[in-house]
Order: sequence, then structure tokens, then C-alpha cells
Amino acid sequence: MGLLIKGGEIVTAESRSRGDIFIENETISSIGRDFYAPPGTEVIDAAGQLVFPGFIDPHVHIHLPFMATFAKDTHATASKAALIGGTTTFIEMCCPSRTEDALEGYHTWKQKAQGNSACDYAFHMAVTRYDTNTEAQLREIVRDGTASFKIFLAYKNFFGVTDEEMFSTLKLAAELGVITTAHCENAELVGQLQQILLAEGKTGPEWHEPSRPEAVEAEGTGRFATFLGQTGAAGYVVHLSCAPALRAAVEAKLRGVRLYVESVLPHFLLDKTYAERPNVEGMKHVMSPPLRDKRNLPILWNALQAGLIDTVGTDHCPFDTEQKLLGSEAFTQIPNGIPGIEDRVNLMYTYGVRRGALDIHRFVDALSTRSAKLFGLFPRKGTIAIGADADIVVYDPDYRGTISAATQHSNNNYNGFEGFRIEGRPSHVTVRGRVQVRDGVFVGEPGRGRMIKREPHYGAQGAKNAG
Ligand SMILES: [Zn+2]
Repeated sequence: MGLLIKGGEIVTAESRSRGDIFIENETISSIGRDFYAPPGTEVIDAAGQLVFPGFIDPHVHIHLPFMATFAKDTHATASKAALIGGTTTFIEMCCPSRTEDALEGYHTWKQKAQGNSACDYAFHMAVTRYDTNTEAQLREIVRDGTASFKIFLAYKNFFGVTDEEMFSTLKLAAELGVITTAHCENAELVGQLQQILLAEGKTGPEWHEPSRPEAVEAEGTGRFATFLGQTGAAGYVVHLSCAPALRAAVEAKLRGVRLYVESVLPHFLLDKTYAERPNVEGMKHVMSPPLRDKRNLPILWNALQAGLIDTVGTDHCPFDTEQKLLGSEAFTQIPNGIPGIEDRVNLMYTYGVRRGALDIHRFVDALSTRSAKLFGLFPRKGTIAIGADADIVVYDPDYRGTISAATQHSNNNYNGFEGFRIEGRPSHVTVRGRVQVRDGVFVGEPGRGRMIKREPHYGAQGAKNAG
């Protein structure tokens, strides 16, 4: 039985036209106009609606042991939230800690996702230490279809790597043609500043940002870029939050370093005054890098529109208020993170496209196509084309609503964007041709999601030219 999506305004990263999409089995078989629906075809009337390629969230945490607790979502809850919000594929950070075995961790993450995710998924493999076993393990993980790494320059002694370990990881990544994503903050400076603030009795969530100021992130970004230049590896800065870090990244791009930039939803819409709210209200908005001074927000929007910021992810990482209160005595004990997987598309559409800050094609590019290209999912994912996976979002631009924890699907008791108005939402969402969301309601098959295997595609580039 086929599926016909009829009469919508099809919008990709490059083009816009009214038309019909015919889907057979799991892929798009034809795109045209005035298609006749053969008997037995399911028809979705998309008249008056936008039709986007399924959105891709390149940065989420679902299974996550962190700061003495676990993030709240399961793959079942997070993937359902993702689909209702128009995200049909996510890339999860597989994050075993420094004391765990990397390969065992990788299999744990895979098992958690398999049969439980309603949308498709892939992993970035975190390298949290580099010892004699690491190289062989990483080669095996890449052969298994996980063609991207993650390193943390922050979180010393837990996820964080030393400069020596970063160098080894990037050297291997360059040889394998794998891209390395990086959390860029100077771990040493963060540790020292935290100690000074706590010694002065500054323990509340409002001191989280001053403990990791913009310069600390700019230093990490610049250092990562320098290491990329010297190894010839390709890299991707995750959750860039501020103008000084952006400048460091852009300077590296201009030198010819293969460096790509992601920002995440909170940094486009929230500023540090949210984390300065008293007690648990502030703790809800503690993440790293932290929410910044509001002067950064228009700079990030402009950089996104100009393509200097390549992608928009969420860094979805739900800890509930009870877990946030673990940091009542000291801001250093507040689990870092905020949910967002359900709200990214609607908020970026509303505050970007609708407000005129973001061109609609750049919106599709930044929230879908560019991630597909950078991480080896394209053209199977990230566009609407014959032969591509039929991951489609039929989007109702006339919907009006308000974000609230009371109506969300992510497993958490708060939403960091509570009260934000949205102007548009997905009405229908398909994953490989199956309708998973209809009229805004999840109607799908919970375990439909599949791990999408990816090939390394960053060929060797002369090292040391770009450092
Ligand atoms: Zn993250």
C-alpha cells in the first residue's frame, strides 16, 4: 500500500514548490503534481501546509549516567517527543565515562535504543580516555557504522580528555576519515574558577555562568581548532554559545581548518537571567556552556542565517527538578542540561522563520540537511528526493499554541521554554513511509526506529597547512 502526500508546499534546503509525494515501501518513489491515488493508497491532504524533510537533531542525550544520576528519558519517551516535534532522526551521544570500557559502553547504548526508539537514530562515539585498547575499539565501532567521535575538553576526570588524548583521537579520526565533535571549554580554568567562587560562599545557580565565562569557551574552541589544523582532522564544535567562541571558530574556518559549528536551541532563545532566578527556577536553566549575556543572541541568529553556524541541535538532556536540587548546596552539583528535543523545530520556526530572522531554506538546512551531510546520512536523510527515505513532516503554519510541561511528551516535570508561544507545528510525520504522527498525535509503532549505519567520508587533507 502506498502513501500519497497531496498538494503541500514542498520546502527543502534549496527549493520550494507545490506538489505531491508518492511513497512506496519506505522510500519516496515519485514527486510531481496531480497524482492519482491507486486503490488502497493512504492519502494525506497537505493543502495549505508546508512539507519538509524529516528534521535531524544532531546532538541529544537519552541514556546518560551523569553527575551521580541518570537523565530522565528512555528511548521510547524521547523518540515519541522527537516525532511529535518533527524530528525523525536523532544522533545520540554515546558517553561511557572515563572508567568504563568504550566498547562495552557502545553496546550498552545500542541495546538501550534497539527496539525502543520510534524514530531512526545514530550515535556519536565519545572518546573519554585513550589507552592501549582504544584504537582497536574505535576501529571496530567505526566499522559498525558509527562514523563520528565526541570529545569533551571539559568535565575533567569524568568525560574529559587531556590534550595528549585529544591529539591521539584526532590523529586516528583523520586516518579513518571520521569527523570529531567536541565540547569546547577549558577544564582547568573551570575547576579553578569554581573553587574560588565556592570559597567566597557563592553557591547558587547564578554563579554557574561566571565559573565558565565566555573566554573559557573561546579558549577551548581555539585549542580544538589548532589541534584539528595540526592533525588534518575534520571537527565540529557542539553547542557553541557566545560571540568570542564564534570568532575563534570563524578564524579557524578562514585559515582552512575543517571546522563546523553547532549551536543549540537554548542559546538562541534564553539568556543568563534565566539561571539567575532563585533556587530551583535557576537550576532548571543550568547547562554547559551556560546561558549567556543577551547581547550574544542576535549575533548567533545572524551567524546562523549567514551559515557561519552550520547546524542547530538541542543537547536534549532532561533532569527533573528533584535531580536539579542535588545542587542546592553548590552550583557545581547541579546536573547540567535542559530538555528540547520536542520543541526545537517549532521554536526555531516561530522565532526564526516567522520573525524574519531565518530564511526558510536555511532553516531546513540547519535543522536537517546540513547535519545529514556532515554526518554521512545524506541523501538518504535530510532532503525530499526520489529514492530518499520517506521521512516527511507535514507542517501546519496556522497552528497556535504554548509550550508547557503539562502537555509535553519528554519525561520531565519542567520545560525550560515554559510559556513560549509557537506559531506552527507538525500535523503529520512519517518515518520511512509509516505515519507515526497524525493530527499532532503519536499513532505510530514504538519500536520502528532503526540505527542508520554511516560511512566515514572525510578524506585525508594535508595536515599542518591550516593550524
Ligand atoms: Zn551534549
